[in-house]
Amino acid sequence: MPSYSAPLRDMQFVYNELFDPADISALPGCEDATADLVEPVLEEAARLAENELFPLNATGDSHGCQYEDGKVTTPPGFAKAYQEYAEGGWIGLPCDPKYGGQGMPGALNVLMEEMACSANVSFATYVGLTRGAYRAINTFASEELKERYLPKMVSGIWSGTMCLTEPQCGTDLGLIRTKAVAADDGSHQLTGTKIFITAGEHDLTENIIHLVLARLPDAPPGIKGISLFLVPKFLPNKDGELGERNGMRCARIENKMGIKASATCEMSLENATGWLIGEPHKGMRAMFTMMNDARLGVGIQGLGIGESAYQAAVQYAKDRQQGRSLSGTQYPDQPADPLLVHPDIRRMLLTMRAFTEGGRALSVWIGRNIDIRDRSDNPQARKEADDLVQLLTPLVKSYLSEAGHDAAQMAVQVYGGHGYIRENGVEQYARDARIAMIYEGANGIQALDLVGRKLPAHMGRYLRRFFHPVQKWIDANTADATLQPFILPLAKAFGRLQIATGQIAQAGLKNPNEAGAASSEYLKLFALVALAFLWAQMAKVALSKKETDEEGFYQAKIATAHFFMERVLPQTGSLFSAIMVGGKTMMEFPDDAF
Ligand SMILES: Cc1cc2nc3c(=O)[nH]c(=O)nc-3n(C[C@H](O)[C@H](O)[C@H](O)COP(=O)(O)OP(=O)(O)OC[C@H]3O[C@@H](n4cnc5c(N)ncnc54)[C@H](O)[C@@H]3O)c2cc1C
Repeated sequence: MPSYSAPLRDMQFVYNELFDPADISALPGCEDATADLVEPVLEEAARLAENELFPLNATGDSHGCQYEDGKVTTPPGFAKAYQEYAEGGWIGLPCDPKYGGQGMPGALNVLMEEMACSANVSFATYVGLTRGAYRAINTFASEELKERYLPKMVSGIWSGTMCLTEPQCGTDLGLIRTKAVAADDGSHQLTGTKIFITAGEHDLTENIIHLVLARLPDAPPGIKGISLFLVPKFLPNKDGELGERNGMRCARIENKMGIKASATCEMSLENATGWLIGEPHKGMRAMFTMMNDARLGVGIQGLGIGESAYQAAVQYAKDRQQGRSLSGTQYPDQPADPLLVHPDIRRMLLTMRAFTEGGRALSVWIGRNIDIRDRSDNPQARKEADDLVQLLTPLVKSYLSEAGHDAAQMAVQVYGGHGYIRENGVEQYARDARIAMIYEGANGIQALDLVGRKLPAHMGRYLRRFFHPVQKWIDANTADATLQPFILPLAKAFGRLQIATGQIAQAGLKNPNEAGAASSEYLKLFALVALAFLWAQMAKVALSKKETDEEGFYQAKIATAHFFMERVLPQTGSLFSAIMVGGKTMMEFPDDAF
């Protein structure tokens, strides 16, 4: 069976060495987040992930969730682990101390989330959605609703969900039919059916707070007529304690490919009482706050699974003996050499590693910008950070989920036939990773968001928040001979990205199908350039410290940076060609010929 050990050394490298932690601890409310505190927090999170969550991963997969008469039972051990997680204050780690949160930086929370996803991604879905719901309520709900709901959500006594999907409506939320009718007391009565609701019902918390999209009677058609409501499973009394059972119930749970310990519920609303969050018909705005949070979380699911898959594959490649090295026997006293000697195995392991270490840097980078956006007292800094978060969110969601899935598939490949056998554990990673490319807006939709909304936004302002720092970094370091192996490929890939951006902007103006046809390749090209930017910076830090290297950490970092630049980044060449050739072959293919 695979094991999991949190990559604490690399996490500390990203948090404290690649980036300057003082930028974050200088933010209002983050003063305590110094290196002295960050280290023990990460260590404690690692203990929880390794010892409590990881042992429940395989058993959670085989037991799955059980449904009976409206009730959902999570796999054995989940309730106890949840209690420990909540009592440790982990759900509220980045939340406002006003509601009982720890007020810790989002950049630190990103690392905590990665560990939870590596250890047990099903478990992570229960806690991740509560945090997303917290953010939407905290940003848009009335003070009364905040006071009533947030403290219990932050402490984990109550959990949260997001309820968008309906049988006829997935990507296209304009098709939502759930109805909300105003009652005399200021509340609303909601009726309809929601499907695929993660953690819609379970036995981990005494109450579940659903954020539900629905239509008011006077709603304009389509996406502009959707409102957001808070609908609790149990209606709290005036004193905040649990009262009457509300009319929102679980009708069934789905039998699915992966994340089997995460309950995916069909929820039926029959005159369920709810309260409006934000303005009528402006629900999408509020829901996007939650969705953006969740999109980052879904990208981190890919990263987390990719890390576990990498660790399992490395262990197996060291233990399993098959064949001899192409360059001559390496272990003559053994019946065969370990898999690790074979170039193709090393190719897969290093591809996984280049992704997880680069992906970790990318997720902490966005986490830092979320902290600046939410906490800085400098309005310009807040605005710039928000622009970058807007731009990077579809990249993080889409690229990390896809690369995490690829990493899980590679782990199966490294294990060979044994990877395909359930009891060896890695096929679970391949199944669990698959959903991250679909939910929270399928990856194709993220690509459309990037080319359709993020590129043109404010005449390219979001783009400049990325392009300018990259160009500035290249210019500032270009004279450094030791950095040439990193700067040259970065500059080449960045050039491709700039040309491809111009091509998409021009061709897309004339024919939107051209932008759509290029979008997925463009997103991947963009993500690879973002990783190259981070890998070049990581190489620079590692080169500057390699003399102090006692455990080979910096040497390995530099070697992985070389691998990324030489073996992964050249993919930008084929992506660039596909973008530049346009979408004609796809769009002119006759419908009848499919
Ligand atoms: C395990 C699981 C958990 C989930 N959890 C939740 C949850 O907690 N809350 C919730 O509300 N929903 C949840 N979902 C639903 C999930 O978000 C949707 O399945 C997803 O958004 C896609 O919608 P769909 O399945 O209806 O696919 P469709 O919308 O039918 O799309 C099918 C395919 O077509 C593509 N496509 C659709 N429209 C376009 C377009 N305009 N342009 C280009 N391509 C397009 C999509 O990218 C996708 O690849 C969950 C789903 C699953 C399976």
